[in-house]
Formats: sequence, structure tokens, C-alpha cells
Amino acid sequence: MLAVALDEARSGRAEGGIPIGAALFGADGQLLGRGRNRRVQDGDASMHGETSAFRNAGRQASYRGTTMVTTLSPCWYCSGLIRQFGIGNLIVGESRTFTGQHDWLAQHGVQVTLLDDPDCVTLMTEFIAANPALWNEDIGED
Ligand SMILES: [Zn+2]
Repeated sequence: MLAVALDEARSGRAEGGIPIGAALFGADGQLLGRGRNRRVQDGDASMHGETSAFRNAGRQASYRGTTMVTTLSPCWYCSGLIRQFGIGNLIVGESRTFTGQHDWLAQHGVQVTLLDDPDCVTLMTEFIAANPALWNEDIGED
């Protein structure tokens, strides 16, 4: 499942965007939607990887058995989305370059799996080194 999110992240990098990808899978493992951070591409600060995948999945009757896969630990905004809609499972590619709210989600019943994937770490490490201002803008620390 991480491969889909990583593919989205790499597409984002190729577009000159922030290389964070995500995908939402159904309880049966079916891919419901995939997306990537589109802050640069769309000029939209609210288009994170997770929200992009969520929107591309369309309306679902229930999110309880779904799994959100993201290349990077989710921010407050995306963690709020996961809680709001009761997404039951979260798979995080890495949390070395940014540690978001997956601990908070776990405390609230979300099944969290942290992969610590080296490809995700490399992708973000290279991006942050090359684009510190853009990265700080995205995490709201500029
Ligand atoms: Zn986010």
C-alpha cells in the first residue's frame, strides 16, 4: 500500500511540488483514492497528500474499516480529518523528518503502523535540504 503513496510523492516531486503522497484503501484492500500534496501545483495550502487522497476517494458511506497510507507523519489538519471521519487505520511511511499527531490518533483508537521506510526518509530529506523555505511554509513555521 505504501508503494501507491510513494508513487504519488514522487509525482509531486517531478511537478516541483512537496513530495508527500497518500492513499485511502477500503476494508477489503481496494484502492479508493490516491493523491499528493498540491500546495505548489494548485496554489492551495489545504491540499495535503491525505486530503487529496480523501477527496479523490469520493463519498464513502463509512470510513471505519478504511486505511489511510501516507508517506509522512500526518499534520494536525490531516489528523483531524482522520478522526472526523473515523478512518480506522493509519500507515505512516516515516516520521523522522516531521513528527505529526500519530501518537494522538493512536490514543484515540486509530490503529497506527509506523514503517520507518528509508525511501520515504530519503525523499523528504533531499526535498527539505533543497527547499527549506517551501518546507517551512508547508509546516507553518515560516
Ligand atoms: Zn496534512
